[in-house]
Amino acid sequence: MIPASFDYTCPKTVAEAVSLLGQNPEAKILAGGHSLIPMMRFRMATPAMLVDINQLEGLSYIKEEGDWLEIGAMTRESELDRSELVRKSYSLLADTTRVIADPLVRNLATVGGNIAHADPANDHPATMLAYGAEVTATGPDGERSIPIGDFFLDAFTTSLSHDEILTAIRIPRAVEKSGGAYFKLERKVGDYATVAVAAQLVLNGDGKIASAGIGLTNVGLTPIKATAAEEALTGKVLDDASIKEAARLASEVAEPIEDQRGSEEYKRHLVRTFTSRALRKAQERAEGGGV
Ligand SMILES: Cc1cc2nc3c(=O)[nH]c(=O)nc-3n(C[C@H](O)[C@H](O)[C@H](O)COP(=O)(O)OP(=O)(O)OC[C@H]3O[C@@H](n4cnc5c(N)ncnc54)[C@H](O)[C@@H]3O)c2cc1C
Repeated sequence: MIPASFDYTCPKTVAEAVSLLGQNPEAKILAGGHSLIPMMRFRMATPAMLVDINQLEGLSYIKEEGDWLEIGAMTRESELDRSELVRKSYSLLADTTRVIADPLVRNLATVGGNIAHADPANDHPATMLAYGAEVTATGPDGERSIPIGDFFLDAFTTSLSHDEILTAIRIPRAVEKSGGAYFKLERKVGDYATVAVAAQLVLNGDGKIASAGIGLTNVGLTPIKATAAEEALTGKVLDDASIKEAARLASEVAEPIEDQRGSEEYKRHLVRTFTSRALRKAQERAEGGGV
């Protein structure tokens, strides 16, 4: 279908973009366009105006600064995929970006758009929950940081206000003996997840778990942080018993529904299986087993 008609603006600064959004309550931000434009073509979204943020300078970068890895919102998936820094030190993020859509989509789709869209089937949100990331939002009153746990309110709904732009995402900087992994089942390459699990571990010198992060994709209206599983792992050695218990707790907190991709029971089973696999892989990587 053809989208409904709309006005188009292409501001040059973040301040101008914020002001356009403030003046136009029916406006929507256009980033990579790979979620918004399909929705407009199906008339599931009918914005009166598009505020295209592709010409804004300084929103495309990947850098370590202080205690964080900071990623500009307009960074394309393909840039993340090619980043040596990400490949070397952020294995969970590298795993995730590699299984998003296909190379053509990844050339345009942005990290900021993936998170701001808040589609429960998108892959970055669960990964960001597992990392304990923070979102930077820029609005009329300047910048604010939003812990990722407070960001996803419902399907396609976030805590950003209408005139705020997600300008960056910050992931805790990689430390010694840390590693992660993302396991995803898709019907075919390039598809959205039937179910996926993100796991991130930091180990102590004695091999026990200093902190664990687990995020679940597409088993609820929002990405789900498996807090009870994370807490059960903290201070433990990762062995068959602790993995089994964490996987059980993660599958309990999932809220899958039956659809053409599978039954509720099947999806819970996948959460258990992928939690186990992701934790084992995360440990291997944290111990220096490579990406
Ligand atoms: C064939 C196909 C397969 C796909 N498969 C996957 C997949 O397997 N996994 C996956 O995770 N995704 C998948 N996607 C989605 C893709 O990754 C999207 O591009 C992404 O979800 C949205 O990013 P975008 O930059 O394209 O955002 P857009 O489509 O431009 O915007 C999406 C929404 O977010 C808002 N928005 C965008 N940027 C910002 C910002 N900086 N601040 C505030 N709001 C903003 C927009 O207003 C809009 O409402 C697929 C897409 C296609 C077309």
